[in-house]
Amino acid sequence: MPTFEYAPAPESRAVVDVDSTYGLFINGDWVDGRGTAFKTVNPATEEVLADIHEASPDDVDLAVKAARTAYTRVWSRMSGADRGKYLFRIARILQERAREFAVLETLDNGKPIKETRDVDIPLAAAHFFYHAGWADKLSYAGYGPDPRPHGVVGQIIPWNFPLLMLAWKVAPALATGNTIVLKPAETTPLTALLFAEVCQQAQLPPGVVNIVTGAGDTGQAIVDHPGIDKIAFTGSTGVGKMIARSIAGTRKKATLELGGKGANIVFDDAPIDQTVEGIVRGIFFNQGHVCCAGSRLLVQETVADEVVRRLQRRLSTLRVGDPLDKNTDVGAINSRAQLDRITSLVDAGEAEGAERWDNGCALPQRGFWFRPTLFSGVTQTHRIAQEEIFGPVLSVLTFRTPQEAVAKANNTPYGLSAGIWTDKGSRILWMADQLKAGVVWANTFNQFDPTSPFGGYKESGYGREGGRHGLEAYLKGSI
Ligand code: NDP
Repeated sequence: MPTFEYAPAPESRAVVDVDSTYGLFINGDWVDGRGTAFKTVNPATEEVLADIHEASPDDVDLAVKAARTAYTRVWSRMSGADRGKYLFRIARILQERAREFAVLETLDNGKPIKETRDVDIPLAAAHFFYHAGWADKLSYAGYGPDPRPHGVVGQIIPWNFPLLMLAWKVAPALATGNTIVLKPAETTPLTALLFAEVCQQAQLPPGVVNIVTGAGDTGQAIVDHPGIDKIAFTGSTGVGKMIARSIAGTRKKATLELGGKGANIVFDDAPIDQTVEGIVRGIFFNQGHVCCAGSRLLVQETVADEVVRRLQRRLSTLRVGDPLDKNTDVGAINSRAQLDRITSLVDAGEAEGAERWDNGCALPQRGFWFRPTLFSGVTQTHRIAQEEIFGPVLSVLTFRTPQEAVAKANNTPYGLSAGIWTDKGSRILWMADQLKAGVVWANTFNQFDPTSPFGGYKESGYGREGGRHGLEAYLKGSI
């Protein structure tokens, strides 16, 4: 097969100024954290990008108090139309500064610039635009004539879509009249801290959004704080369970968006070329660091060999490397810890007897990397069929009938996403009805839109984000 040499096409770093040190954003101002500072690194090079202050429980207390004061004195008294103006302003600033955000996200997270530029940042702005539109229409959302916010919400987000997850949480909370204490993930705090600057630029009243950096202990301090009315968490199922235990018996509300082991189901009448692209998008987008990734491929036995062969051919063309290069398809793994997790699960897959294949591409010397990998001969009991790998690794299983496909797809503790590839509309509807998954894509995968609710069944969590349903989680009388 011919291969093409691409000239380097690096995006310039010059559009973004990374400070050497970042404090906490509390009450509209930068303050020093009283915990132990930590470093955030570029996972593609291991270069230290900045020192980040850690918020101690006392700092979290300060942030919660600032959020409470802002809620009582300003934000809960403001009309929805006025809140909406701030959201529109934030959305427009995100668009204006999109290039800066895209480069910073790629530096801190390791994901390819073409994804931050074309997916993460535009979608983050779209979430603010969408929710800006809701702010003055909540009485018509179907939650009664005068729906009320919870008050102060604690938001804890992961490292896989740092700014986008912030937008999923901050936009609906502000639109509904809540104030916020948000903690970004330890390995990817920089775009959240740049977002704090956007709040200042938009002249958002002080204390409405507070951003505290730190690791699990800082997150725990938010969860445990008695001044928090609601927790919105996205991350691992393990930490989600701990949070649910911590708030049990308190008056705190919670929404949990946890892990997944999505099935991408391919029937023998599916258009193979489009399907192969969809499978690639489903699991190799964002290095597979996606909770709703199509990490289990269920393919009808009669076409399994052909699909695997074509997939291998397509994976051989994926370009792995410098995330700032506009031609890069697969970037760096976000951290050494995540690389170790992926490696150990992949080793387990081989030890349990599945057949491992990777695209054999050269990897950079420094940084954290993993080749696009495919396992065939996977059975349902293998760990790689049951556990979330959260990396560029696809497990391929086969089925014969639609009933068998449904049984296998649902045979997981998770229930976040699924995909169906077939020519038959009636089969899509029947399958979608049977699948225990919060989102089911038909002849496509990993499509996101702020108007569409997203969330899970079973151990993938509870509550929805996005769309009209997502507003409910930020209004009284809800979960
Ligand atoms: P975590 O669940 O540990 O992290 C998610 C967020 O929760 C981070 O901000 C984290 O802080 C914070 N956190 C950690 N411990 C606590 C705690 N006790 N109380 C409150 N907040 C806490 O995910 P990991 O980064 O450890 O990733 C582990 C696995 O989780 C991955 O391999 C993947 O399978 C899954 N995952 C799923 C995600 C999803 O979107 N569903 C997203 C991320 C991970 P900090 O990062 O600073 O430690």
